[in-house]
Amino acid sequence: MYDFMLTPEARELKKEVRNFVREEISSDFLRKMDKNEITYPREFVEKLAAKGLFGVRFPKKYGGREMSWVAEMAAIEEIGCLGIALGCAHAMPSIVGEALNTFGTEEQKEKYLKPYLQGKLVAAEALTEPRGGSDFFGAMTKADLHGDHFILNGEKRFVVGAEGADFFIVYCRTNFDANAHKYSRLSLLLVERSEGVSTDYLYGLMGCRGGGTGRLVFRDVKVPKENLIGELHGGALCFNRMMIPERLTSAGGCLGVWGSLDLAVRYSNRRRAFGKEIRKYQGVSFKVADAITRLDAARAITYMAARAVDENYTNMRRLVSEAKSFSTKAAWDVVNLAMQIMGGIGYTEVYPIERSLRDTRLSMIWTGTTEIMNLMIQHEYYNEILNESYDRRKMEDDAMSPDESERCFTDDDMMRIHDEGKAGGD
Ligand SMILES: Cc1cc2nc3c(=O)[nH]c(=O)nc-3n(C[C@H](O)[C@H](O)[C@H](O)COP(=O)(O)OP(=O)(O)OC[C@H]3O[C@@H](n4cnc5c(N)ncnc54)[C@H](O)[C@@H]3O)c2cc1C
Repeated sequence: MYDFMLTPEARELKKEVRNFVREEISSDFLRKMDKNEITYPREFVEKLAAKGLFGVRFPKKYGGREMSWVAEMAAIEEIGCLGIALGCAHAMPSIVGEALNTFGTEEQKEKYLKPYLQGKLVAAEALTEPRGGSDFFGAMTKADLHGDHFILNGEKRFVVGAEGADFFIVYCRTNFDANAHKYSRLSLLLVERSEGVSTDYLYGLMGCRGGGTGRLVFRDVKVPKENLIGELHGGALCFNRMMIPERLTSAGGCLGVWGSLDLAVRYSNRRRAFGKEIRKYQGVSFKVADAITRLDAARAITYMAARAVDENYTNMRRLVSEAKSFSTKAAWDVVNLAMQIMGGIGYTEVYPIERSLRDTRLSMIWTGTTEIMNLMIQHEYYNEILNESYDRRKMEDDAMSPDESERCFTDDDMMRIHDEGKAGGD
């Protein structure tokens, strides 16, 4: 989706962010992050907040701009070229802010959302545990309610901002009834960096450096009851909602690989082999064609999914998962094509394509792996097709020998497929 498909306001925002990315963030800052000389990009967060570029979807009274999800994607596409760690620092207010804005109390919004969007506080989200990230509802971090406070114990890992954040939103088990459904076991707590909260370990990462990714440990942390976000044992609902910005921002951030592709295009216009510019060889220029086509397809699906969320479209969850899965893979392909176009020099630190490649690899793993996206996508689609309200023409009826198809699938078979489709996404 190009600018002509955006509203004038979204177009303006995109331009604003484009200028910010070009003029306000030095190359030296990016280099320092990649060298781990910066543990958390607080300076970047403060600069973004000062320009009002955080949480643009949220109400103005908390510092947002009341813009659409599509507008947010337009901003993220520009930010994305700065790399995945800064993309994440920009996206985190959208993710954490979604939980606060949708489920938080007025006090929580005033105390945490507003200063976050002003750049005075920084947050991180703590979902993943050492025992696994994909099996989210099996979380073992626990919080016992004692009168007016919870006592939180447990461990989370791979938390971006474990080093650097002032508060964390933490999913933890609060319902210890052995028969409780997995969707009513967890609660979402807002935990300030306080006594008992420690950043135990900072990971050495392949990419995404400088974002403070670490392991968080909670030992007998006293969390006031008013820091519960949403209902007690209502964490599943918050998670369900938070996964929209979580996955959409991953999809949108990946579109930032336009930076690598543009670099490779300029390079191929200069670099000569066998007496002419390499772009004159179809082996090179067709790679450019392939890459930009994939990137445009990723743009299309990401903006479409964002538009679906704006419209509260019934099948938006499938589209969001598709956008996350498709765009992250497309971005990986685009960076690989860019590296191939550049030849040996693309593999060196003389150009930042190698950094982009290291960064992009993460996008297929975090915020739900590609496999987990596929689990969601198939589950939703089976439900849509096998739903009783399905009202499109059924092609089975057009068969030359419809009686034969009846013999292939009995009603029992159809019921079984339907049930398996349901079970698969749980
Ligand atoms: C740099 C970095 C930053 C991160 N930032 C954060 C953060 O800020 N906050 C946070 O909470 N988490 C964060 N994560 C965690 C990330 O979201 C998880 O790593 C991811 O969800 C996968 O969980 P896992 O690593 O435990 O892998 P596992 O869940 O152990 O999965 C291992 C493999 O098994 C596959 N698999 C698992 N279950 C199924 C299934 N049912 N069907 C098919 N395949 C399956 C997975 O797809 C994967 O390939 C971050 C991770 C990294 C590396």
